[in-house]
Formats: sequence, structure tokens, C-alpha cells
Amino acid sequence: MKYIFDFDDVLFNNTTQFKEHIYTCLEKAGVSRNTAEEYYKKERVNPLHLKKILAHFSVREDLYEEIMVNSKNFSNEELFKIIRKIGKDNCYIITYGNKEFNLDKITRSGAGDLFHKRNVFIVSGSKKDIIEKICDKHKDEEVIFIDDKAYHFKDLDFKKYPNLRTILYTGQNLKPYLPRS
Ligand SMILES: [Mg+2]
Repeated sequence: MKYIFDFDDVLFNNTTQFKEHIYTCLEKAGVSRNTAEEYYKKERVNPLHLKKILAHFSVREDLYEEIMVNSKNFSNEELFKIIRKIGKDNCYIITYGNKEFNLDKITRSGAGDLFHKRNVFIVSGSKKDIIEKICDKHKDEEVIFIDDKAYHFKDLDFKKYPNLRTILYTGQNLKPYLPRS
């Protein structure tokens, strides 16, 4: 069985914890939460880079390091444990966003150690192509794609890839979906 994980709000507690952490740090640097939230909403369509946000608000550059240094605190340890059991050869990350920023988050969260580099993909559009390549390569195995956003499932071809299965992740226990050891 192969497993494809989304990063934000699956492997990494982005919305509930990391984003709040960013707001708190920005507030300390003099940017109100409202102002930061407004900017976030407006720019959300583009893959955001934290450095771009900091530059936009003209806050000191070393705030980036202060924000990122605690990234490990926001990782989903429950899932990390599961991934260690499943093993690197069976796990992938496909995440949407800015390449540099997301690679930094993946590395600093500790997730980077759990995946082969060749199995980590950061996309700026649909995840379909990469998912279907994985399904094609592992035709005789079930491929489970776990994401917190249902719209990433919409363009997938389940007829062509009957081995593909999706799980909408809301923090539920994934143990029932794992191979029995
Ligand atoms: Mg996500």
C-alpha cells in the first residue's frame, strides 16, 4: 500500500497552530491581527511565502527565523508515528504552495526525515498528475491519498485508477486504513 499525504493541516497543524503563531509574532512586531488577516485573505490565491508577508509589512527580516525555529511544535506527531511504521518507501508528500517556504516548513517540522526527497512534491496547481503517476507505477497496490481539502479530489480519475482511494482528513484516527502489522 502507498500513502500520499498533504502537508498543511494534515502533517502540519497549519491553520489552528502555525498561522496563529505567525499572527502572534507579527503582532509583537507591530502588525495588528486584523491587518495581517486582511492581507492573508487577499493574497490567499497565490502560494504564500512568509518572507513575502514580512517584506510586505516591512518588519525586520530576522523575524522569519524566530517564527520558523519552533516549527517542530506544530507537527502532527500522531501521523509522524504512523509514517515511521509504514516506512519511507511507501510514503509521499504532495503539497500546494510556494516551493522554498514549503520545503523549509517540511524540513524544520521534522517531516523531511520521514520521506525520501524524491517522494516530496510541491505543486503550484493540481495534484492530479503526480498522484496518477504514482497510481500508474504501483498498479497492483492500493494508493491512499490523504488531504484536508476535498477539492483536491475533484479532478482525479478513479475509473482509470481503480487502485486510488481518498481520505478527507479532519484529524480522525487513520489506523483503520493502515496495513495490519
Ligand atoms: Mg492541506
